[in-house]
Amino acid sequence: MSDKKWVYIFNEVEQAEKYAGSWDGVRGLLGGKGANLAEMVRIGVPVPPGFTITTEACNAYQDNRSFPEGMWDQAMAALAVVEKQAGKKFGDPKNPLLVSCRSGSKFSMPGMMDTVLNIGLNDETARGMVALTSNERFVYDSYRRLIQMFGSVVLDIEDEKFEDVLKEYKDIKGYKLDPELKTEDLKFLTEQFKKVVKENRGFDFPQEPLKQLELATKAVFNSWNSKRAIDYRKASNISDKLGTAVNIQTMVFGNMGDDSGTGVAFTRDPQTGENTMFGDYLLNAQGEDVVAGIRNTLKIANLKNDLPEAYNSFMDITAKLEKHYHDMQDVEFTIERKRLWMLQTRNGKRTAKAAIKIAVDMANSGLISKEEAVLRVEPEQVDQMLHPQFDAVVKTNAKKQGRLFGTGVNASPGAAVGRIYFDADLAEKMAREEKQDVIMVRPFTKPDDVHGMLAAKGILTSEGGATSHAAVVARQFGVPCIVGASMVEINMAKREMKASGRTIKEGEWLSLDGASGEAFTGQLELTVPNVEEQVELMTLLSWADDLSRLQVWANADYPKDARRARTYGAKGIGLCRTEHMFFEESRLPYVQEMIMNAELTQNMINYLESLENALKSGRREGRVLNEEDRAKLEAEIAVEKNKIATSQKAKAYFGALDFLLPQQRSDFYGLFEAMDGLPVIIRLIDPPLHEFLPSMEDLLTEVATMKALNNTEGLAEKELLLATVTGLHESNPMMGLRGIRLGIVYPDIMKMQVRAIFEAASDATLKGIVVKPEIMIPLTGHVNELKLVQPTLVDIAKQVMAEKGVHFEYKFGTMIEIPRAAVVAAEIAGVAEFFSFGTNDLTQMTFGYSRDDAERNFLVTYVEKGILPKNPFQVLDRDGVGQLMRMAVEEGRKVRPNLEVGICGEHGGDPSSIEFCHLVGNNYVSCSPFRVPLARLAAAQAALKNK
Ligand code: PEP
Ligand code: MG
Repeated sequence: MSDKKWVYIFNEVEQAEKYAGSWDGVRGLLGGKGANLAEMVRIGVPVPPGFTITTEACNAYQDNRSFPEGMWDQAMAALAVVEKQAGKKFGDPKNPLLVSCRSGSKFSMPGMMDTVLNIGLNDETARGMVALTSNERFVYDSYRRLIQMFGSVVLDIEDEKFEDVLKEYKDIKGYKLDPELKTEDLKFLTEQFKKVVKENRGFDFPQEPLKQLELATKAVFNSWNSKRAIDYRKASNISDKLGTAVNIQTMVFGNMGDDSGTGVAFTRDPQTGENTMFGDYLLNAQGEDVVAGIRNTLKIANLKNDLPEAYNSFMDITAKLEKHYHDMQDVEFTIERKRLWMLQTRNGKRTAKAAIKIAVDMANSGLISKEEAVLRVEPEQVDQMLHPQFDAVVKTNAKKQGRLFGTGVNASPGAAVGRIYFDADLAEKMAREEKQDVIMVRPFTKPDDVHGMLAAKGILTSEGGATSHAAVVARQFGVPCIVGASMVEINMAKREMKASGRTIKEGEWLSLDGASGEAFTGQLELTVPNVEEQVELMTLLSWADDLSRLQVWANADYPKDARRARTYGAKGIGLCRTEHMFFEESRLPYVQEMIMNAELTQNMINYLESLENALKSGRREGRVLNEEDRAKLEAEIAVEKNKIATSQKAKAYFGALDFLLPQQRSDFYGLFEAMDGLPVIIRLIDPPLHEFLPSMEDLLTEVATMKALNNTEGLAEKELLLATVTGLHESNPMMGLRGIRLGIVYPDIMKMQVRAIFEAASDATLKGIVVKPEIMIPLTGHVNELKLVQPTLVDIAKQVMAEKGVHFEYKFGTMIEIPRAAVVAAEIAGVAEFFSFGTNDLTQMTFGYSRDDAERNFLVTYVEKGILPKNPFQVLDRDGVGQLMRMAVEEGRKVRPNLEVGICGEHGGDPSSIEFCHLVGNNYVSCSPFRVPLARLAAAQAALKNK
């Protein structure tokens, strides 16, 4: 027989720790619930006796659908110990032990896997229980619950089959609520439920307690691979390989009368983080009743009146647990005849707001360190704090207009506007396929609805409380949610809902505010919250800044974006894409004028330059010039100069550049002003020029139509435009004439930009603003490109500063976004004073995937099939693109030890990519202003995790 240990009794936590090596390992082995039950036993918290079958057993079971060798024998031995501890015997009609069989994986997956309660009840033990407890009603209530749970969970009979029987019976009897059911009713229902089993499965409900236990254990193992569990793991990034443990535990009963009860609670408010007990309970009820949200629950504070002793011991124990785990706890408890039992404790799920407040409060009170506080909050939770909300004025106006549709429990904060759908499948379909903003509306949600909830912008339920399934899941995923909006009548058959005398049909708009619990008809305007008012977030981020090595800069083109970035904590601008300003309506005609005349003008200039060079060198076409040749050449130069001076084309070209210069100057001035004292990286023109012109297809059609209609007005201009567009047409424009290549072919555009930058910087300096301009040249692939372009631009910088009589520090550098540039980084660093990784292009060119088309065509499939772990345009590919970056940093710094290195591709706002930038020694990451707070936290976490 194998000596592998598959089963741990709750008081064997030390053994588990020894085997697993760490607490994290114990959680992996026993699951979160099992590990914490054992830990509670260790610290003296009252826990009903029980044992845990390990996740390793689950994984072994999955391979061939049978328990691994030795497992069941060990479970039987553990059961014998538990029988002793509980003073009862499993299956003994005189003194029966009843157990629960619950799932529990390493990471909590609320409601995703299965549970069976009251195992061990059968006709005989039920009679025994009645004799023991003199409470026949309670016994048959428990028995009918077992048959229903066992039937649906283990025997896979639709839950509705049982619910229908119950509902029909209650209707006949005129009962509204379950507690109205009398003993005889419950006895009758027990028999009816047995019939449901027989009718649907063709065999009787198993009377043998051990058979019940064995089948329930298998069902829990199987539930690890249910669709909803798999969906949930995918959404939560939980590995499929972890498996679930099974916890078999003595039942204690909250349904033994009014001195008994059951509840769930959080030691702090999971929505706001306030340090107050938050939870619900029900007297004379069993576990699932509270979370199911079917019966209206009471607030924990009431328990003080109902059962004062149990309340006091509950408050003591929960305080002890929070102190012990150094975190907010989510607990389940049962009171059996005044005696309190803890059934579960775990770190509670919470909203982003609560996560931040709890971490900061706990660090301030000394319960955890600042480092722990910074590690506790997920970067994405910081992002959620910046999510849109409804302005108070907008809501007041909506109320005045009579648009308040209904109110409910504010279960998960944030505002959402979307079209309503009444089931999860449709909600998901509309969101994914139709790209609609969706709000899912249900009476209450069940674990099967998770896919719809994840796809929705918001969730509304008419039933349930703050700890109901909908509330817990919504909070975890940051989906705004209102639950228990009881005035909303949902009519599933008509696919509509009614409240306050109004009807909203499926597909119509609803706006919901998860923070206040209000739902409005139609679409309310959303606003972005003010981050500076969020005191705890600001505190946490200031701690993060102290702990990180990487700085966070922002990608911003306009002063207003730069200002936002600065309030969000950016320490510089890492990318200003200057060409974006070219698209402004008042400028585009001039940009087009510039492009239309660039080629001919440049040809004239190039020709003139070749003549001047010949004169300087004294040779032309390999021949030494004599006196006569020289004179001829000088005359020719004069003619060419005159040609350029009088050329309409050249006039138009330089005229457009002259128009754009002051415009760009004022753009840049605004940026320097906004970023006073901080570095600002301005990138020179990058995109292929055709992007500024109408599309070739449109022009061709227009010209053809005009010709066909004999419409000559403006035809010549259109044909000229078409000729230019055709001339600029490239098969692969992203690999064509763009970036530094434009600086070589049409140098005057970049020259104009550099002059505008330095004029703006000089003017700002004269006004007392501290400027730190860094000029970034895009798309360098060969050092010779930089050698040709950069010195001319540096000369302009110097010239402008001399003209203005000012001096300030500046840098010229380049983007590393072509793989070759990364490979020859040492050479490039000989010229460039800084590097910034353009990982959008670097990913595109390293993989050879078009960044515009790949996602649409094949990338999603690649990720689904596991060919790629993640979309490399979102999460940096460390093994490929990342290695090029690492090499570039190392090689570059060999030549220029203080080389400033940053990243300005989209990856600069992604936590995993930020960590990689920390690891390769970047100085900063640059991302969208909205991602700056998230990136600050991620940068600190990268430093803490890689000490
Ligand atoms: C990049 O390529 O990563 C980059 C920032 O430049 P753009 O996205 O403008 O090409
Ligand atoms: Mg790029």
